[in-house]
Amino acid sequence: MTEAPIRSILIVGGGTAGWMAATLLARRLEKQPVSITVVESPDIRTVGVGEATVPAIRDYFRAIGASDFDVMRATQGTLKLGIEFCGWAGPGTSFFHPFGLYGTSSRGVAFHHYWLKRRLAGDATPLAAYSLCTELAMANHVLPPPNKPANELGVFDWAVHFDAGLYARFLAVKATREHGVTHVEGTIDGVALDSESGNIASVSLADGRTLEADLFIDCSGFRSLLLGGALGIGYEDWIDLLPCDRAVAIPCERTSALTPFTRSTALPAGWQWRIPLQHRVGNGYVYSSRHVSDDEAVATLQSRLEGAPLAEPNLLRFRTGHRERFWHRNCIALGLAAGFLEPLESTSITLIQSGIERLVSLFPDRRFDPALADEFNRITTLEYARIRDFLVLHYYGNARTGEPMWDACRDLVLPEALAYKLRQFRSRGTMVRYEWESFQDPSWLSMFVGLGILPERYDPLADHFSGDQLDAAMSRMRDAIGKAIALSTPHATFLANNCSMKAA
Ligand SMILES: Cc1cc2nc3c(=O)[nH]c(=O)nc-3n(C[C@H](O)[C@H](O)[C@H](O)COP(=O)(O)OP(=O)(O)OC[C@H]3O[C@@H](n4cnc5c(N)ncnc54)[C@H](O)[C@@H]3O)c2cc1C
Repeated sequence: MTEAPIRSILIVGGGTAGWMAATLLARRLEKQPVSITVVESPDIRTVGVGEATVPAIRDYFRAIGASDFDVMRATQGTLKLGIEFCGWAGPGTSFFHPFGLYGTSSRGVAFHHYWLKRRLAGDATPLAAYSLCTELAMANHVLPPPNKPANELGVFDWAVHFDAGLYARFLAVKATREHGVTHVEGTIDGVALDSESGNIASVSLADGRTLEADLFIDCSGFRSLLLGGALGIGYEDWIDLLPCDRAVAIPCERTSALTPFTRSTALPAGWQWRIPLQHRVGNGYVYSSRHVSDDEAVATLQSRLEGAPLAEPNLLRFRTGHRERFWHRNCIALGLAAGFLEPLESTSITLIQSGIERLVSLFPDRRFDPALADEFNRITTLEYARIRDFLVLHYYGNARTGEPMWDACRDLVLPEALAYKLRQFRSRGTMVRYEWESFQDPSWLSMFVGLGILPERYDPLADHFSGDQLDAAMSRMRDAIGKAIALSTPHATFLANNCSMKAA
């Protein structure tokens, strides 16, 4: 027994971050004598976007006792096998970032060295032909990710797309009905600090109520009411590295195929997302306000919708970066209150998830040992910076010439960790891995190769096999992928059978 256990947690904000935190904390702390309350304003709406995820979300679903299909049934969800990038490597180009491996390694040599060896000998087969996940996505088909794949060729995973509003509602019902989380509606208009410790003591609501707690979790969105506001923690801005600072979102009717992937299409001053859901398509234009006006951005997105718009344009301004500290005194920020990396690789929700898990693993008592906060802040800072570097690569590696925003991106001075990674890959295909990277080698490989960044030479150990031997092995890999595709199911059929809201 600890001497001073946390007795009460107040979560400020009822968006994706607030309800994800409430549900998982309630589950993880179910044997602890701690009460959890979520307070949200009926007058301040949630950000209303955030509909694409990465496969790690499946761990969160498992941790709260839900299956992928439970969530998808409740949220008009669809499956996501990766992201298709259109126009990033120049007009008319496209490539895929799959949630899966490429080919099979052999004798300790990664597959891409063998592929490169054959490429240098004149074989034009794209790397993507050795990715089951990519081939499935391009066929608009899905297969359940195998629990025990026979070899690396079968290794892939999926994530989900969901309606953000329905997802928050699904979690809110779970948290309040199954786990006894208290839900308070009210707008906070004051925060009181303890005069001795400087900790947050309570928040006051516009209707006169006061809410006290031992631990405060700031999920108040871009406002960062507690950490940024009351505690005055500053913001580290990355606008010099990532050019986009605004977005407009407009959902529309779906008139084309139910693709099992997000599409990201480069446009002159940013990029457009397309996220297919069962009942609609989510669309957004993420752009640089230095290169296009809001009106032009809205008009561009409107002109590119595949079906009738289902809502007015939702304009969002953001500052890419993060709070200088994520945990300070008795307050931890999650979600947009902690920071924001633009949605190019759908990483905000996964950062919320890892933040909650990290809080659980470093859970404090009422003494709030600063060592716990230090470790939380050290890891979270690294996690943000690693994702930032992955996003920066997308812009830096572009091949769109004659467009000021994109031209400037190719001249970026890269953070040294990214510059080193690039040098190593360019030199001999070496993949550098850092601590706390959210994206693993195959993700980096897909971006390098997709953007046309190729190594000068391959691992000499790949010469163990002759060209003929490699051709035969690689042909067998393509055959095996073809056979798996033949057993797969169209995405729309799979959803209708397993996770249609109508079937719920
Ligand atoms: C353009 C864009 C696209 C995105 N796309 C993706 C994506 O594809 N994938 C992904 O993972 N993430 C994406 N994100 C991020 C994702 O939307 C957020 O991480 C996620 O929705 C969490 O938001 P939140 O809960 O932190 O904040 P919000 O949704 O803004 O919720 C804030 C909450 O705080 C409450 N609040 C605020 N002030 C007060 C107050 N004074 N009193 C009481 N309550 C208050 C509000 O009522 C609300 O409930 C995107 C973000 C943007 C901007």
